[in-house]
Amino acid sequence: MTTITAAVVREPGGDFEFTQLELAPPQAHEVRVRLIAVGICHADVLSRDQVYPIALPAVLGHEGAGIVEAVGADVSNLQVGDHVVLGFNYCRQCRQCRLGFPGNCERTAEFNFSGTRPDGSTSLLENGSAVSSWYFGQSSFATHTNVSEHAAVRVPDHLPLSVLAPLGCGVMTGAGSVLNVLRPPAGSSIAVLGAGAVGMSALLAARLTGCTTIIAIDIVESRLELALELGATHAVNAAKSDPVSAVKAITGGRGVEHAVDAAGSPRLFRQMLDMLSIRGHGVLVGAPLPGDEISLDLNPSLGAGHRISFVLEGDGHPQEFIPDLVKLFEAKLLPLERLVTQYPFADLNKAVADALSGKSVKPVLVFP
Ligand SMILES: [Zn+2]
Ligand SMILES: [Zn+2]
Repeated sequence: MTTITAAVVREPGGDFEFTQLELAPPQAHEVRVRLIAVGICHADVLSRDQVYPIALPAVLGHEGAGIVEAVGADVSNLQVGDHVVLGFNYCRQCRQCRLGFPGNCERTAEFNFSGTRPDGSTSLLENGSAVSSWYFGQSSFATHTNVSEHAAVRVPDHLPLSVLAPLGCGVMTGAGSVLNVLRPPAGSSIAVLGAGAVGMSALLAARLTGCTTIIAIDIVESRLELALELGATHAVNAAKSDPVSAVKAITGGRGVEHAVDAAGSPRLFRQMLDMLSIRGHGVLVGAPLPGDEISLDLNPSLGAGHRISFVLEGDGHPQEFIPDLVKLFEAKLLPLERLVTQYPFADLNKAVADALSGKSVKPVLVFP
């Protein structure tokens, strides 16, 4: 057993509470990672609030990055000292995993949200009682965690883990929606609804693919300013003007050929549909709440040949896609450092508040 410091959620919506826990040694196919940094993603807040339920007490956190400190007996692809970014977990055996889409693993719930390993065992104990672990396969709001070797992606040692950490969820989700799903041709148009870390990553990817009309939509002025600095050609403040009319005006009445809903509310999803051009393709990547529904007049969307995709975790394979994104970062084509605001691990609750208010785009906690 290793004594670690973790941020524990004990009641729905309660603060993260720092406490000492016992971490079991890594199992045969696991590695123990000493966390250097961890991003905060919206799902952490939704699980804290039990909108996405997980048994409490629980350790959340799913954008960890750190250094391998111990390896299980059967680990073959990682060594002590390796720098790794942690992604979600997946079974590797089901049809979707075998087809290369682990984000849609048939056993996602067991491997990421059950609060235990898929076999029901736990690696975290507090005074002998189990604490939910393996959140997204990692539970990285902690100084150390055990993860499946398949959820850890090796990255070059010389790159800053505090900038790479959000690759494991938010950046992969946003960039993947564009690079893997929309694949916009150079010279085409795109709108991004919600300029948080996911939306901003989609925007950076759109710029990489050569989109020439890139419209950022948000209600926080500072985020829109950053979007313009990062390559958006237009910014629309949805608190001040109707985003559908604004997008139509910018595109000469046609609408956009591609759109990303990075927010995931029924109202914005409907706006995304309404701003698509003929043969426009929209993707939902933001996290809706259980029970969210929309009403829709199907006839015009059929007439226009609209396409809609629902995309989890960017629709790539983390072991290939994260290294590709790292190469783009290294080549200075994906300036992730512009999205990140660093906080000490101890300031987790403040960092969450800043993210919810829109003050920061991607808070990343760094460990002492
Ligand atoms: Zn699977
Ligand atoms: Zn996430």
